Amino acid sequence: MCFAFEVAKIDPAAGRLGRLTTPHGVIETPFFLPVGTAAAVKALTQDTLEDLGAKIILANTYHLYLRPGHELIRRLGGLHRFMSWPRAILTDSGGYQVFSLSELRKVTDDGVRFRSHLDGSEHLLTPEKAAEIQLALGSDIAMVLDECIATPAPRELAQSALRRTTEWARRARTYFLECGRRKGKLAQWQFGIVQGATFADLRRESARQLLELDFPGYAVGGLAIGEPHAITCEMTGEVTALLPQDRPRYLMGVGRPEQVADYVALGIDMMDCVLPTRAARHACLYTSEGRVLIKNACYAQDERAIDPQCSCAVCRRYSRAYLRHLFAAGEITAAILATHHNVHFYLDLMKRIREAIEFGNLAKFSSAMHARYAAGPA
Ligand SMILES: [Zn+2]
Repeated sequence: MCFAFEVAKIDPAAGRLGRLTTPHGVIETPFFLPVGTAAAVKALTQDTLEDLGAKIILANTYHLYLRPGHELIRRLGGLHRFMSWPRAILTDSGGYQVFSLSELRKVTDDGVRFRSHLDGSEHLLTPEKAAEIQLALGSDIAMVLDECIATPAPRELAQSALRRTTEWARRARTYFLECGRRKGKLAQWQFGIVQGATFADLRRESARQLLELDFPGYAVGGLAIGEPHAITCEMTGEVTALLPQDRPRYLMGVGRPEQVADYVALGIDMMDCVLPTRAARHACLYTSEGRVLIKNACYAQDERAIDPQCSCAVCRRYSRAYLRHLFAAGEITAAILATHHNVHFYLDLMKRIREAIEFGNLAKFSSAMHARYAAGPA
């Protein structure tokens, strides 16, 4: 069992390069996590994900707890074995899904009571329970339960969610460390999540309170949920300025292709987003020249690859005309090919960002991406 995080290069204005070592492999930072909500990245097999070079994926505590259940997964040897994924896994705490998917939720200091979006059954998710579920799943990185609120939020609401998030983080940390004492060293890292909505002072306060709990890594949550990109960046910068250099920083649920380099420049090491997979299923493809909305009539006879500069298996073999036809005909293959390309695009984007940091030209890379994506669909 080994965990480590080393920062190889830090440029205060242009990101950092590092290596995150987990029991399931070493990952170069900054990196992107494809989202595998229910232990599956929609439309991709684990074989394909490995071929694409994904070193870590995200799975969802909320979904796996409700179906098939964490105890079943534990009995079958843990999530890696259950889904036959030999590389690293990060599980989120379920907090965000409870707030976005479940019905009749009621938040108290104890935890959050909710009804399953699947069968209406009632559940209580506490900080301890979220930690217990993730230990049963056996993910490499687990997140603490936090209270997510919509933005823009009134200051009083943001303050009370912040207070509760810190208290829940304290309980989750205590539970986790206690399990470690009872069972021996755990093969899992537990990360704290900074909240505070769009209030800079609350973000700083949340970060300072979590630092006292000494997590091996810190996430920034509750951003990129509707506020302008400049605000997301401002809040992220407030937090990363306070976080220790020797711990990984994870910005949750971001971002659009042209925004990713901006977050890296603020000192973020890891990100996850449903965008490449979800957009693919809706016929939106990301390319080096901007978005390609493949259903558009202009692609009906276009024999070029989705992205002539892309080296993925789909771009090497198929034309835009064929992809457009598959979407028009409602073929499952459309989602498979589009997802393959988009996930390749994001993983390759991170690789190019790492190279840009290496050569000290991340700012130039970022402005080029913004220019291409501002130009609109090709
Ligand atoms: Zn491609």
